[in-house]
Amino acid sequence: MQLAWLLRGLRTGVVTTRYPQRPDSLPPGFRGQPLLDPARCWAATGCAACAEACLPGAIRLEEAPVDPSRLRFTLDYGSCIMCGLCVAACPNHAMVMTPEFELAVRQPHDLIYAVDLGGEQTNGGVPGDPDADRQ
Ligand code: SF4
Ligand code: SF4
Repeated sequence: MQLAWLLRGLRTGVVTTRYPQRPDSLPPGFRGQPLLDPARCWAATGCAACAEACLPGAIRLEEAPVDPSRLRFTLDYGSCIMCGLCVAACPNHAMVMTPEFELAVRQPHDLIYAVDLGGEQTNGGVPGDPDADRQ
C-alpha cells in the first residue's frame, strides 16, 4: 500500500508553490485590501453607502473625536472579508480593491485605518498604506 502511495506521489510530481519564498501569481479578479481615496469621498455631504453595504460592519463613519465638525472614516481590516461590496456601492469611486493580501501585523489595532475627512490621516499601521503614522 505504501509503495503505491509513493509511486502515485512520484507520478503526480510537485503541486504546491514556493510561496512565500517566491511571489505567487494571483488569479484574475483577485480581491485584496480595499483602500479609500479620502479626496474622492463624499461622506461629508451625507454619503454612507460603503458603510451600509459592508456586511461585517468593518466601515464606520462617525464624528471625529477631536473635531466633531469632521467625519472620521474607519476601516477595520481585521473585520474586512474583502468582498468588494463597498467598492460597488461607492458612487464616486473613492473605494478601490487592491491585490494586496499580506496584512499581518503584531497588534490588532494596527489593522484599523482611520482618516478624519478634510483633515490629516490619524492612524494606520496597515500594509499598503505608505503614509501611515501611528496614532
Ligand atoms: S471589502 Fe467588504 S468587508 Fe471589506 S470593507 Fe468593503 S464591504 Fe466591508
Ligand atoms: S460610499 Fe464612497 S463616497 Fe460614500 S462615504 Fe463611502 S467611500 Fe465615501
